[in-house]
Amino acid sequence: MRYCIIQADGMADEPLPELGGRTPLEAAHTPYMNELAARGVVGTFNPIPSGMDSGSDVGTLSVLGYDPAKYYTGRAPIEAAGLGLHLERDDVAYRMNLVTVEGDVLNGVMKDYSAGHISPEAAATIVAAIKVNFETSEIRFFKGLSYRHIMVWRNGPLNITTTPPHDITDRSTQEHLPRGNGAEELCTLMAEVSFFVREFVSRHCHGDVKANAVWFWGQGRAAVLPPVSRVFGGRGAIIAAVDLVKGIGALAGMDHVKVRGATGDVDTNYSGKGKAAVEVLEGGYTLCMVHVEAPDEAGHRGDPYLKKETIELIDAEVVAPVLRLAHEKKDIVVLVTCDHRTPCRIRTHATGDVPFVLYHPARRISAQTSINFCEKSCRKGVHFSSGEELINYVIDRKVR
Ligand SMILES: [Zn+2]
Repeated sequence: MRYCIIQADGMADEPLPELGGRTPLEAAHTPYMNELAARGVVGTFNPIPSGMDSGSDVGTLSVLGYDPAKYYTGRAPIEAAGLGLHLERDDVAYRMNLVTVEGDVLNGVMKDYSAGHISPEAAATIVAAIKVNFETSEIRFFKGLSYRHIMVWRNGPLNITTTPPHDITDRSTQEHLPRGNGAEELCTLMAEVSFFVREFVSRHCHGDVKANAVWFWGQGRAAVLPPVSRVFGGRGAIIAAVDLVKGIGALAGMDHVKVRGATGDVDTNYSGKGKAAVEVLEGGYTLCMVHVEAPDEAGHRGDPYLKKETIELIDAEVVAPVLRLAHEKKDIVVLVTCDHRTPCRIRTHATGDVPFVLYHPARRISAQTSINFCEKSCRKGVHFSSGEELINYVIDRKVR
């Protein structure tokens, strides 16, 4: 068997008055997902173990069948893997945001977690200067994209509480500084680097560069995942534009397939991703994961109409070509699901069950006339308490 997992990030939602009491998935015209549902199995599973934060880091591990409670070590180590960094055993990775604060970073107000979505060029100049001035044999800095960078500190403070800067917009920095064993050291470094960034930007950058501080969070040691080949029985490839998801693919030993025009946003190249999926499945891979960030972005914008449209595009441009191939080849298993809920009403991630549809050519499925693939119809189907359980079912692990 060959496996195609299509992950529509944050697709699951709630009934919305704007859509006549329907969810975006329920209201969307999705003939191909519906066909999968009519010939396959629908159901729900819980991608976010209780006590963990809802996000694509935890949720994507689940969608690939890994237990996040066992394998998740933090957000930064996953992003570091996405940048191609190798962490040693005693390394601790931290996400370093370039941010805009009012006042001092240790005693001010967080104005923008992204420094105005700083341009990659300006960010590269600033991070290069940070490297020159602050790198030691113990502490290193790595350039990511826009406001997202990585700091690696050998035996750096690990058992501390940090706060994502996007959670404290317009709030006091002082109340959300790193806390716990060794946190003062991290705060000192944050203050020193921030002081430098403010000076550097005012001297060397254009007036439209809004970065004046850095913020460390998401710390963790290297994550070690068993390779997908062990579970799926062959090579895997991941089609994703977002560094975080690319990082999970890298840690899982998957090849990354780049698609021109894939943006990680609602304007992504949907048909390019669909074509790439077919190429991967035809190219000797046993597992293809296609990640589309668009529904999550629409959810963050609180726009049900846009979210519905992104789901329709995924159906027509990604699911359709994979389904065509599955009709032709008879050995392709298709799973369409998502990593977490991003309800338009709250504009952020939420925990709880998400829907899935599984099409498996070798399984006998009692014929169904028609079914609309959505949260409601999936609640009447099978239920799995974790992604690990779902993937065991997908690959029929007990039978093999
Ligand atoms: Zn999101």
